[in-house]
Amino acid sequence: MRKIIAAGNWKMNGSREMTQTLLSELKTGLQAGTNADVLVFPAFGYLQQAVELVKGSVIQVGAQNLSTAEKGAFTGEMSGAMLKDLGCTHVLVGHSERRAMNHETSEVVAEKFAMAQKTGLVPVLCVGETLSEREAGNTKVVVAAQLQAVLDHCGVDSLADSVLAYEPVWAIGTGKTATPEQAQEVHAFLRNTLSALDAKIADSLRILYGGSVKGANASALFAMQDVDGGLVGGASLDSGQFLEICAAA
Ligand code: PEP
Repeated sequence: MRKIIAAGNWKMNGSREMTQTLLSELKTGLQAGTNADVLVFPAFGYLQQAVELVKGSVIQVGAQNLSTAEKGAFTGEMSGAMLKDLGCTHVLVGHSERRAMNHETSEVVAEKFAMAQKTGLVPVLCVGETLSEREAGNTKVVVAAQLQAVLDHCGVDSLADSVLAYEPVWAIGTGKTATPEQAQEVHAFLRNTLSALDAKIADSLRILYGGSVKGANASALFAMQDVDGGLVGGASLDSGQFLEICAAA
């Protein structure tokens, strides 16, 4: 039985005040308990504040990115060791916004995945196709290639200490959610691909769905056999919505 993960990617949103308010509302809302592992991914500048605020709660804090390098002359970058030092437990790698806007190739993503694990962070590897790739019938080819880059660089065993997130690019921030059946089809494909390499790892790996998850659609998505939670953007900035998503677990 895989435990559901409710993960909130705050992207480049927030302030000290918002971090304080949102996390205190989430802490209060989760006080009675939850069936989910709850993660939040604030921007770099608020990580330390978030780590302090979640102490004594079930909420864990992750970062949205890390450098491929260990340390040195990389102006504006953050290393995995720094994130770990701040108290982060997880880090996103390969989010489609970084693949598209920061030109991160699947090979760079694989290097970040390796660096996350080397520094003791759990990587949340994001894969997903664009609308034109889906319309051309290439969804599985695209996500398989994105996954393969990590398998080539790190090996299948590395997936044991990671989380996978299927995020169709056409569903991110658009209000267009994949149907539970569309999500299930890709999640099952990803799990089966890994199963051919290591059935045990494939069976225990948690695969999140991301793309306009909200309180109203989380239950139907999480009810699918291979959907093990959600990576949530917009709705994670609203404590009521995010708590509803946690409750769907
Ligand atoms: C995301 O950024 O990972 C995401 C899924 O965003 P949204 O929920 O806003 O579509």
